[in-house]
Amino acid sequence: SGPRPKNVFIVIMGPPGSGKGTISERIVRDFKLLYLSSGDVLRNHISNQTEFGVQIKPIVAAGKLVPSSLLTPMIEADISKLKSTGDTGFLLDGFPRSVDQAESLQRTHPPNLAIQLDVPFETIINRIKSRYIHLPSGRVYNLDYNPPKVTGKDDVTGEALTQREDDKPESVKKRLEIYQSVMDPILEYYKNKQVLQVFSGTESNVIYPQVKRFLEDFLKKQ
Ligand code: ATP
Ligand code: MG
Repeated sequence: SGPRPKNVFIVIMGPPGSGKGTISERIVRDFKLLYLSSGDVLRNHISNQTEFGVQIKPIVAAGKLVPSSLLTPMIEADISKLKSTGDTGFLLDGFPRSVDQAESLQRTHPPNLAIQLDVPFETIINRIKSRYIHLPSGRVYNLDYNPPKVTGKDDVTGEALTQREDDKPESVKKRLEIYQSVMDPILEYYKNKQVLQVFSGTESNVIYPQVKRFLEDFLKKQ
């Protein structure tokens, strides 16, 4: 659907397991945006056992937040790299997760839209149990809602799917607690900047059509 949009920078937020990865994948497909996920960046460092990856592995496994002092410069550098390709339409998933991250991002690359996925915690806890990912690409599957074509294999590459270390119940509980404590001020921050757009529901298949309609309209106005 048309050329890649220019000068659009969207952040997507929502509790862990709210479908950010799934919704992002559909947005990127339908609107030809570039995509960056802080969680994918971190998981790839961990998987490749880089120095940074080794350092953050226990933090991520426990469901805690990686210190902003380490992560923010890395994400901002990645955004600059994406921008330097000349394709300036992109979507950032998983960042910001704190007001200091939001403030820093506002100074370097201010988003013109902040999408919030509002999904009940009860739904999330059930959903995460049956979630599998393809680690190199970040593609997400759910055995109940969105299963792979072949059991245990990524649809695109045929490579093995894995469960995330931090998807075990204790870590999920920790992640939801942290999310609740940090998110309100960030939502307030973007509300004040008049870029916040909230989408509520319990299923990505129901939420995404709303997001899509909104974005069709939003991108026309850019
Ligand atoms: P989802 O289930 O939708 O992927 P999530 O928010 O739990 O949700 P990721 O965004 O993939 O998962 O992040 C996984 C982990 O990576 C977090 O629990 C945290 O440890 C770390 N992380 C990701 N983004 C940030 C960030 N902006 N600041 C600090 N830590 C982060
Ligand atoms: Mg994610």
